[in-house]
Amino acid sequence: MVVDVVIIGAGPGGGMAACWLAASGLRVMLLEKRHLPRHKPCGGALPAKIMDLLDWDIAPLIEARIRSQKFLFNYEQPTFDDKPDAPMLLVSRSRFDYHFIERAARSVTVRDNFPVVSIEENDTGVIVRGKNGETIHAAYVIAADGATSPTARALGLAQAAPVGAAVDVEIEVTPEVLAEEQTHATFNLYCLPDGYGWIFPKAGYLSCGVAAWRNPKGLPAQMQTFLERSFPPGSIQAIKQYGHPVPLFAGHAAVAARRVCLVGDAARLVDPVLGEGIYYAVKSGLLAAEVVLHLLRGVSDFEPDWRAVDNCLLDRDQLRAQAADYTDCTLYQTLIRRGIARELNIVRLLGQPFFDTPERFYHDHFAAY
Ligand SMILES: Cc1cc2nc3c(=O)[nH]c(=O)nc-3n(C[C@H](O)[C@H](O)[C@H](O)COP(=O)(O)OP(=O)(O)OC[C@H]3O[C@@H](n4cnc5c(N)ncnc54)[C@H](O)[C@@H]3O)c2cc1C
Repeated sequence: MVVDVVIIGAGPGGGMAACWLAASGLRVMLLEKRHLPRHKPCGGALPAKIMDLLDWDIAPLIEARIRSQKFLFNYEQPTFDDKPDAPMLLVSRSRFDYHFIERAARSVTVRDNFPVVSIEENDTGVIVRGKNGETIHAAYVIAADGATSPTARALGLAQAAPVGAAVDVEIEVTPEVLAEEQTHATFNLYCLPDGYGWIFPKAGYLSCGVAAWRNPKGLPAQMQTFLERSFPPGSIQAIKQYGHPVPLFAGHAAVAARRVCLVGDAARLVDPVLGEGIYYAVKSGLLAAEVVLHLLRGVSDFEPDWRAVDNCLLDRDQLRAQAADYTDCTLYQTLIRRGIARELNIVRLLGQPFFDTPERFYHDHFAAY
């Protein structure tokens, strides 16, 4: 089988790339190892700015819009921060991720239950092999294959660095507790060493979790303690628990080979303080799709969708001129460095006291409200 672009992974990164390429007339195939729609352990919190990247309305997918955030320091010192103009949007990840796939599926061939087991780049293209022995030849690959990205490992990209981890539970609670939690999102900072717990209201249930940035060991036990200390005895009626690594951004790394772009978690584009990665997965999926389109259409007409590129801190003419010099995916490396990694690096550097002097950081930034 020969196609123009293979996308690996049906999360928001791969889904966005698929939507963006769907109208291009190119032969695009998306490969996902799991059965779709699939569950992804996640709080499902989106910043409102994600709407700027999307051409369509995601209102039907939003289960709650939260304008108030409650912060605690290890269960103590509660303080509220109201954000009337920048609500936090809460979604169910299985529905949210799958809506990209449904949008793209009319023009993109989607194959689920298709684990990719090897990927090999050469001068003319990329050979992608599935576990079933099938081989697909593509001109370019967009690898959005998540925190443990087999593609990144195979190509020696996005080098290993400390990985955080998080455990997420969906709980059904008594109506009184649900009503109480419905008005705000809770962030319980440092309720476990080097980490935090969260409680997010969803449609009829709560999404709770604990995340640790360093030494993420014993998280299920920490999760249990967090639930016991956050809710009155007997108020939790049902519980589903999931866990997953979180590849926190640890400095700019190689995210592109000649014919391959790493997107989202595969490229470690996750906020190193709060562990948020959906926005960056969507944005990098869009940028990867733009770069691949540009390369397949010829180097002389780089006319990307400026919404994604605008805050890459490059002047448009300068970017067009630079793009003409690129004949491979290293253009994507530049866009990621300027458009995402720079921002995450600032978060990482400014957030250092968050890790080093937690109590002081909490007082300076939250108790002061
Ligand atoms: C518990 C938890 C809570 C979180 N909460 C939030 C939050 O509230 N807000 C937020 O912004 N971020 C949150 N995150 C981070 C967020 O979930 C990720 O950053 C986001 O899912 C990244 O999207 P992605 O498309 O890069 O990867 P993923 O969503 O992980 O998708 C990768 C896909 O690739 C597939 N895949 C992997 N290997 C292969 C293979 N070999 N062949 C084919 N397919 C393959 C996987 O099955 C998967 O479907 C949380 C993470 C965790 C663990």
